[in-house]
Amino acid sequence: MNNLIDKMLGSDNFHVTSHCSPDGDSLGSSAGLCKALKKLGKEVYFVLDDKIPSNLEFVVEGIDIKSSNEVDTERPYVLVALDCGDYSRPCCSETVKKGASMFVNIDHHISNDCFGDVNYVDKKASSTSEIVYYILKTMEYEQKIDIIGKDIGTALYTGLITDTGNFMYSNVYPESFKMAYELLQKGIDKQYIVKRLFQSDSLDRIKLLADVLATLEIVEGKIAYIEVTQNMLIRNNIDNNNTEGLINYARDIENIEVGIMFKEKSPGEIKVSFRSKEIIDVNEIARKFGGGGHIRAAGCTIHDSLENAKNKVIEEVVKSFYQ
Ligand code: 5GP
Ligand code: MN
Ligand code: MN
Repeated sequence: MNNLIDKMLGSDNFHVTSHCSPDGDSLGSSAGLCKALKKLGKEVYFVLDDKIPSNLEFVVEGIDIKSSNEVDTERPYVLVALDCGDYSRPCCSETVKKGASMFVNIDHHISNDCFGDVNYVDKKASSTSEIVYYILKTMEYEQKIDIIGKDIGTALYTGLITDTGNFMYSNVYPESFKMAYELLQKGIDKQYIVKRLFQSDSLDRIKLLADVLATLEIVEGKIAYIEVTQNMLIRNNIDNNNTEGLINYARDIENIEVGIMFKEKSPGEIKVSFRSKEIIDVNEIARKFGGGGHIRAAGCTIHDSLENAKNKVIEEVVKSFYQ
């Protein structure tokens, strides 16, 4: 970690980026790091070629966000990718990726292949936000300055609770509770965060949920899958990125081990999400389709019709129970 910190503090110009279809952890860790680097006097932009879901807008309040074509790639910069398992994941252009004088990869995915020039990958961390938290604490100690206040704390706590399902998943270790304890002591408003994340669903999203649940199918008593079509998204005024959490309804059914969601991002482009409870390694299944993630939560994109994608994926998931 000290090597990473020395290398980062040696530069004064940063572009921070993360994956497309942003979630609480990608935005929480990115906003937290951007704000920290700003406090240290660095120039920093958050580069993202995608929309921020409305329930996560509060996380990036006050952050300078740019799309790839607005970024200055002439002046030397460090590019930091957060919450990205491989080189294809950062939601920025090849020009931004290739133009960096140093590419830093900070992540917690089990599938991470250390694509950066500098890699800080902790596969046991609950979230990338937890990794950023401990990096910032080390910086505070070494630089003898306060970095983590209520604003950074709010961003990082958001990442922690979204990736752990409110401390429910197997990726929670004592360090996760320690981080929560310390952030609460710093005065973050955890009820405000919970309300914004989990208690502010629009009526449109609930109507989408009804449509999605109507597609629910069970395979062999232990696999449940649901579908989200473009038609459903358009009919209910829902943005492509605003489908976070729907998959949990499939996973959380009694006796179901694997939940799958097939989302038609555009005709012939199917985003598949996988969740498992305690047996099946869904990262291994996602990898077979060019994706990845974690043992209990993973994803991939399949370029085929919805029907073909469903058939191929379900066949692999069924097989995984007999291996
Ligand atoms: P979700 O299903 O919520 O999109 O993603 C679940 C987990 O798998 C997240 O940690 C996410 O970063 C990872 N993931 C989702 N899609 C992909 C993908 O196409 N490639 C890789 N490497 N990871 C993915
Ligand atoms: Mn993520
Ligand atoms: Mn994450």
